[in-house]
Amino acid sequence: MHKLLFMSTPVGALSSGIGGGVELTLYNLIQEMQKRGYDITTIAPKNSYFANAKIIEIEGSVHIPAQTQTRDIPTVMPKNSVLGNMWEYARKVQSEYDLIVNFAFDWLPFYLTPFFSTPIAQFISMGSLSDSLDEMMDKIAQQYPHNFGVYTKSQANTFPFSQLCEILGSGLDLSLYQYSEKCEQKLAWLGRIAPEKALEDAVKACDITQVPLLIFGKIQDEQYWQNILTQYPDAPIDYRGFLSTQDLQEELRQCQGLLMTPRWIEAFGNVAIEALACGVPVIAYARGGPSEIVEDGKTGFLVTPDSVDGLVKAINQLSTINRYDCRLVVEKEYSLEVWGDRFEAWFKKIVKTN
Ligand code: UDP
Repeated sequence: MHKLLFMSTPVGALSSGIGGGVELTLYNLIQEMQKRGYDITTIAPKNSYFANAKIIEIEGSVHIPAQTQTRDIPTVMPKNSVLGNMWEYARKVQSEYDLIVNFAFDWLPFYLTPFFSTPIAQFISMGSLSDSLDEMMDKIAQQYPHNFGVYTKSQANTFPFSQLCEILGSGLDLSLYQYSEKCEQKLAWLGRIAPEKALEDAVKACDITQVPLLIFGKIQDEQYWQNILTQYPDAPIDYRGFLSTQDLQEELRQCQGLLMTPRWIEAFGNVAIEALACGVPVIAYARGGPSEIVEDGKTGFLVTPDSVDGLVKAINQLSTINRYDCRLVVEKEYSLEVWGDRFEAWFKKIVKTN
């Protein structure tokens, strides 16, 4: 196994922020696998960019993210689908590669698995969102029981084929995140600004406590963002835009804590380990990925899901957390090396068994 073909998400270009955490996951995995001597090519929508990566850009219409749809909605393919075009390209070049790795949470790549002669590893970046997707993934997972990888156990449990999921976690290049012992009295919220992330809960908690909140991330749903501004006109919030990792960690590490308020079952929550890497404790609802990452009382607080009171109480206890414990947990459990070992072993198993 030497040459790998990575298939990106069709919801937007890499580095646009529209793809959310899967963009960082892809970037980190490319760097780590290249360091291990693998030859990695990534196929992604037009205008994608990553430093130190070989990217083939494909034309076509981007897809609607699965989380904006209801569970029962049929699978939709836009005209001149970029996903269709990406997989057509992959089909033509597949014999040059030992393994294809899919990062798109879409029906088509699951369906296509048996039609390809090169094995396809399916990395799933979200929890269950759609009945038609679940059905197709389940069918393929039964046929290829080693090919499905996920971030966390909580995420796997949302799928009918949870027992077959390889739990891979996530990892960071720790050299990109500087630890800060000192902090100022302000909080951070980061991620895509979209309803499933429930930014309004964090804004409400800061409106109550009057602790300033810095908000970082791509505004994916403009109407949703405007509604929050109208609902909390006096909240002490400051929207800082969508920043590069370098700029993000510089601002993030000065914060007292990170608020994570997802309404959905977050598959992982890359932002949690990014904050911890800077020494910033995480206050999160006790469900999904963050509940497996945050150690309550040690690296942050896990509060009753959807309880703003719980967030407020936790904000008032932040000074009891030792910031260095936060950094240590990431060094121990979320380094690129540890994570890369898990991915490499998973890839080898698929190539051997398919
Ligand atoms: N992010 C960023 N710049 C920002 C805010 C967020 O690069 O200003 C990135 C962050 O590093 C993380 C991603 O956006 O990788 C959000 O991913 P997460 O796993 O938290 O959630 P998802 O969007 O996948 O649901």
